[in-house]
Amino acid sequence: MADKVKTIRLYNEVEIPMIGFGTFKIDNASAEDAVTAALRVGYRHIDTASMYRNEEAVGKAVKASGIAREDIFITSKVWNNDQGFHSTLEAFKKSCELLDTDYLDLYLIHWPKDKNLETWRALEKLYADGKVRSIGVSNFKIHHLQQLIDKGEMVPMVNQVELHPQFPQNRLRGYCEKFDIVIESWGPLMQGKAFSIPLLQEIAEEHGKTIAQVVLRWHYQEGLVSLPKTVHPDRMKSNLDIFELELSKDDIERIATLKGGRIGYDPDTIPF
Ligand code: NDP
Repeated sequence: MADKVKTIRLYNEVEIPMIGFGTFKIDNASAEDAVTAALRVGYRHIDTASMYRNEEAVGKAVKASGIAREDIFITSKVWNNDQGFHSTLEAFKKSCELLDTDYLDLYLIHWPKDKNLETWRALEKLYADGKVRSIGVSNFKIHHLQQLIDKGEMVPMVNQVELHPQFPQNRLRGYCEKFDIVIESWGPLMQGKAFSIPLLQEIAEEHGKTIAQVVLRWHYQEGLVSLPKTVHPDRMKSNLDIFELELSKDDIERIATLKGGRIGYDPDTIPF
């Protein structure tokens, strides 16, 4: 199964599996089992963050899996309170200790805050020092990205944002494409809300697939990395099984008619 997960290449040639296992809201007590199950069914990309408080369990699952470290793509994120140059370097060190790894595959600024630029300089240093294979941001709008592009040394390689059929973020995607920034979709299944949308149900029935598979295939066909979260091994497996399905142009056009918007916070007005 692992061989079948397609990858996408960042501008520095690092490859990311296009489906990653999301671990938000999986606490440290359950994350070891969840990540173990995910690795077993073929995930090779794990998305965590210091804020999820499960890095230790993720690290244990990776170690116990017997899979070579270099065959697993691990992402973590610096939390808002740790923003700033020195505090970010400290936060990175702590994440690596908890994850029991010498390096990360991707390190992200979790949310845009006042110290984005100092934080970004710390990420650039970690990259230059060979401690992380790629660096990026999360929840950055165009104006946040523009600041880093204007004043930083490096262009972020990734922007992880809320993105799903009811919130396709077309303008941001156009901007990121210009700079070769890969987009990762968080909340790819609309945090569960996708399952009650009749049009998605209709398309899923037409293909004999689940709604999750249709939506995750949509992300893939749109060139997006998606990070579905589930604690159920059968769902982990079926969420990964999308590479045979093909959505037609008509399916994509029908999906584009869905109206909605953000489910999560607007990055300009987050209360934390
Ligand atoms: P998702 O869109 O992945 O939805 C998760 C929900 O869908 C859960 O309730 C899960 O329930 C359910 N689900 C998953 N697969 C299926 C299925 N096949 N059938 C039925 N139900 C299903 O939401 P998340 O918010 O978790 O986003 C995914 C990941 O993105 C996070 O885990 C995290 O890694 C990242 N993220 C990043 C953020 C950021 O600020 N950078 C913010 C939020 C998320 P169950 O577990 O019971 O199966």
